[in-house]
Amino acid sequence: MKIEQLHQLFLECQSACTDTRKIKIDDMFFALKGDNFNGNTYAEQAIQNGAKYCIVDETEFNTSTQTILVNDVLETLQALATFHRIFLNIPIIALTGSNGKTTTKELINAVLSQKYITTATVGNLNNHIGVPLTLLSMTKNTEIGIVEMGANHQKEIEFLCSIAKPDYGYITNFGKAHLEGFGSVEGVIKGKTELYNFLIENNKTIFVNGNDVIQMEKSKHANTFSFGNNANFNIKIEFIEAQPNVKVRYNNLIIESHLIGEYNFNNIAAAVCIGHYFKVEDSSIKTAIEAYIPNNNRSQVLTKGSNKIILDAYNANPTSMQAALLNFEKLNDTNKIAFLGDMFELGQDAEVEHQNIINLIENLNFQAVLIGENFNKTTINSNKVSIFKNFDAFKNEFDTSKLTNHTLLIKGSRGMAMERILEML
Ligand code: ATP
Ligand code: MG
Repeated sequence: MKIEQLHQLFLECQSACTDTRKIKIDDMFFALKGDNFNGNTYAEQAIQNGAKYCIVDETEFNTSTQTILVNDVLETLQALATFHRIFLNIPIIALTGSNGKTTTKELINAVLSQKYITTATVGNLNNHIGVPLTLLSMTKNTEIGIVEMGANHQKEIEFLCSIAKPDYGYITNFGKAHLEGFGSVEGVIKGKTELYNFLIENNKTIFVNGNDVIQMEKSKHANTFSFGNNANFNIKIEFIEAQPNVKVRYNNLIIESHLIGEYNFNNIAAAVCIGHYFKVEDSSIKTAIEAYIPNNNRSQVLTKGSNKIILDAYNANPTSMQAALLNFEKLNDTNKIAFLGDMFELGQDAEVEHQNIINLIENLNFQAVLIGENFNKTTINSNKVSIFKNFDAFKNEFDTSKLTNHTLLIKGSRGMAMERILEML
């Protein structure tokens, strides 16, 4: 079937779906294959659950008038999203970077939705499947699309740009994340700037954090709209303080966010900048950012018993771990302890990066409890840290009854699920 024809059928549907458990009436189901599953085997179930059409790529599952046989379901999903994006013809803002994509995306969405009908990536659906699904979630009513793009190897952002064809782009930062796939920070910069390359080649616009020298350098041949803390930039946004929450000054407004951590200043500033560019009123920008409360294990502040908890357990890499520790150091609280889980996907840098974290803690004024094989492999003898080889060992051996009136930082890679500590308190 031609993609134009498939698109006509898609327009009859409510939305695109790849998970039979989440299917809604009149969805188009894409029977994707994974390492451990074959979506084709769920086609019949999808129809029973209400799917209007099922896209399959194995003949034996092309069993009904509602199934459509294609060569490759994933390629079809991507081709349909590419077609749909052109059909919609709306401005699309793409975001990538090592850290802070989801937070920045949520903030931009909060700001722009004050004035426009927006559709943004849901949660963290930022890869070769998530980006097409995000595009297919946009409708003729959508006025601006906001698309998070993740990558752990070269050419991935280039590929996602070929589907989403962004008109605007922003890179949150270049950090030490996914070093396994990118090889080095230089590799990260190369991979992430594939977004800039797309925008430059297509004469589109880049939003730039003027305080980031690499962003400034890499975007110098582009149409840019910059923000920074002085008058050299298109818009001046100043950092005021990060304790307890990040506060910024923009025009004559003071914006008091609910976000902790100095690193969130850039994320907020990007949202202010993009809101300003799209002519959202200043007071609405302030309202949107002040109303945004993270609820996704990212930089959340909670209270449990007599303890205050900074829950940043969503993910970790060397850059975000360092940022979180330095922020924790600045908190005026007494009785601070950091509970840190291993950082994954660091390849051959794993040992030195875990060692670096311990070296950093040596110079900070709090104790740390380190959990995981990577921390366990480090050689340092430090009385500032105690190390457990995995979460179970920690759970069995650590006495949580002594944790009263403490402030805890909880952070680690997703696979460590460090939020499990909350259940122990
Ligand atoms: P993922 O790669 O998992 O999609 P992401 O880039 O979407 O991550 P977020 O989920 O927004 O990032 O934030 C993850 C964590 O990164 C935060 O909890 C915080 O610790 C850290 N972080 C957020 N923004 C920044 C930033 N601008 N610079 C450094 N670290 C940051
Ligand atoms: Mg994300």
